[in-house]
Order: sequence, then C-alpha cells, then structure tokens
Amino acid sequence: MFISAIDGHKVLKDSDLPKNDAGFIKIDGTTKVEGFDYVYAIGDLSALEGPDWKAKQGHLAEAMARICAFNIALKEGIEKGEPKNYKDHIGIICLMDMGRKGAGLVYRNDKKAMFLPMPVVGHYLKKLWGMHFKLVKLKKLPKLPYINY
Ligand SMILES: Cc1cc2nc3c(=O)[nH]c(=O)nc-3n(C[C@H](O)[C@H](O)[C@H](O)COP(=O)(O)OP(=O)(O)OC[C@H]3O[C@@H](n4cnc5c(N)ncnc54)[C@H](O)[C@@H]3O)c2cc1C
Repeated sequence: MFISAIDGHKVLKDSDLPKNDAGFIKIDGTTKVEGFDYVYAIGDLSALEGPDWKAKQGHLAEAMARICAFNIALKEGIEKGEPKNYKDHIGIICLMDMGRKGAGLVYRNDKKAMFLPMPVVGHYLKKLWGMHFKLVKLKKLPKLPYINY
C-alpha cells in the first residue's frame, strides 16, 4: 500500500500555522514551529526536512517527541547541553509484512540502502516484534539494548 504524503490534516489546513505546500506544519530542527516561540510539532503532521528518501515513520515520531521534550526542558533551564535535532534520527528500518508468504526488510540511511527478502520467517518475526513492542510499551518487558524505540 502506498499512502501519499501530499495532503495534510484538515485541522492543520484550517489553522494559521505555517505550512508547506502539502499542508504539513513547518518546523525547525528542534521541532519548534516556525515563527512561534512555544509551539512545537512532531510526527506525521510536521513537514520533514531531509534527504529525498526520508519517510514519516513511527520511530521518528517517537524520537521527535523525545527531542521536543528535551528542547523545551532546555529552554526552561531544566536540562543542560545543546539543542537536539530530529534530522539526526531520519532513517528507514521497516519489516514489511506480506502475510504468510513472508516479509521484506527495508533499510536506508545516508550510507546504505538495502532490501532483504525474508520468505515465511519474516511474517512471524514481524508478529513477534509486534507482541514484544506492545509489551514494552505496557512496561511488561524491558527494551532491547542499543535500539531506540
Ligand atoms: C499502513 C502504514 C504502515 C506503516 N508502517 C510503519 C512501520 O512499519 N514502521 C514505522 O516506523 N512506521 C510505520 N508507519 C508510519 C507510522 O504509523 C506513523 O509515522 C506514526 O504513526 C506517526 O505517529 P503520529 O503520532 O505522528 O500520528 P498518528 O499515529 O497518525 O496519530 C495521530 C492521532 O491523532 C488522532 N486524530 C486525528 N484527527 C484528530 C482530531 N481532529 N482530534 C483528535 N484526534 C485526532 C488520530 O486518530 C490518531 O490517533 C506506517 C504507516 C502506515 C499508514
């Protein structure tokens, strides 16, 4: 399924927030909305900047949420350091489930582009990941080390 990225939400379109041509909210690297001091936008409703192959993804939405919270805390003097930038987290890693036939692993960053077919086993790996992910979010399982999710 291809879902085009060329149409923003009606609520945004009707708002006076700065938008790109497609109707998504213009932000800077810190996730702050352009022209506003205390308005931030994260996830699919924001207009991402970055390489041509960038994609709106769940893991990026979560990274943007963390970055946004950190940058607000920094502004308020609660955190110390440099502002964080969501563009450092742009990348694609996706196990595309195709049902019992299997799945395909898509991986993309600045240096590498890869598609790895995973017949049969990929489908069950994706199911396992779904179960694991849900239990982690419910705080019933610990996160895997070295992976940000
Ligand atoms: C088919 C498909 C497959 C995907 N697969 C992957 C994948 O494998 N890996 C990955 O990382 N990402 C994947 N994504 C992308 C990922 O789902 C999104 O990037 C992510 O969900 C964005 O999170 P968000 O919180 O910004 O928006 P959303 O998750 O869309 O959350 C927005 C919420 O706002 C609610 N809402 C809408 N309008 C209103 C309103 N007027 N009032 C109140 N609430 C409202 C919606 O109901 C929704 O719950 C996939 C997306 C699609 C469509």
